Amino acid sequence: METWNIEKTLAWTAQYLDRYKVPDPRCDAEVLLSSVLDCRRGVLALHRDDIVPAGRLSVLKKMIVRRARREPVAYILGYTEFMGMRFFVNEHTLIPRPETELLVEEVVRLITGTGLSKKNAEKTTVADVCTGSGCIAVSIAKLLPGTRVHASDISKDALAIAGQNAVINGVSGMVMLHHGDMFEPFDREGLTGAFDIIVSNPPYVLSSELSGLEPELLCEPRSALDGGADGLRFYRQLALAGKQYLKPRGYIVVELNAQKSAQTAALFTAAGFAVVKMVKDYAHLDRILIVQSIHH
Ligand code: GLN
Repeated sequence: METWNIEKTLAWTAQYLDRYKVPDPRCDAEVLLSSVLDCRRGVLALHRDDIVPAGRLSVLKKMIVRRARREPVAYILGYTEFMGMRFFVNEHTLIPRPETELLVEEVVRLITGTGLSKKNAEKTTVADVCTGSGCIAVSIAKLLPGTRVHASDISKDALAIAGQNAVINGVSGMVMLHHGDMFEPFDREGLTGAFDIIVSNPPYVLSSELSGLEPELLCEPRSALDGGADGLRFYRQLALAGKQYLKPRGYIVVELNAQKSAQTAALFTAAGFAVVKMVKDYAHLDRILIVQSIHH
């Protein structure tokens, strides 16, 4: 019987994925094989000649077939990393993106820096609207123990994953999950005027641009991507309704579509918010907007 060592397995996998136009085939080969062998990716290079057991190879083959169909690696593994923590994901949740880590960092800075002082972190109440996998809500709770986080999502399936993510990251007592469309569950539960900060990474792809997306993105829930005809549907709702749920001079922090940054900011200023900061992402594109409520 033919034996497969780590190097040969990686080379074969990368070649196979390349035939299916997978963008970074060697990288994906390493990520998939290291998960199958339950080791860190860097360890593979140190054990190039080690034999991959037949049982592990058959698990890997099933993964390769899925990846060749352009299913995202995170869905194949069932998890991804965000803010150095593990998050479960499935076809009901958007896969957390590195850009969204910037949003979490800005919220942490806002709570520990000026405005909401560090000793008040205990009393800070945050809402995460459209929470999906819960990556934002859970990492804020984890980084700032004492903060209360309320998270909402219209998808019960996504909330189930968010709940698991709160548990595996040890913050289930700090993150309250609510089922419903944006603020609707907060209304029901008397959480008007309750929040110091509202955060959101809502769907922001233009409906007309959805069909042109990479095959991997088309595996993600359409409801987590589709921002309506102009991509601003959710920002309009955040701007118009947000203030009602904020404490006086509260903040809204959103991730946004770089092509729409000026219009997004304008929606908030027209609704009585002042722009505090626009933050660029790793590609130097406008990505995170912080606004503050200026009058009630
Ligand atoms: N808040 C989640 C995230 O940032 C989900 C966002 C969404 O579904 N648009 O990953």
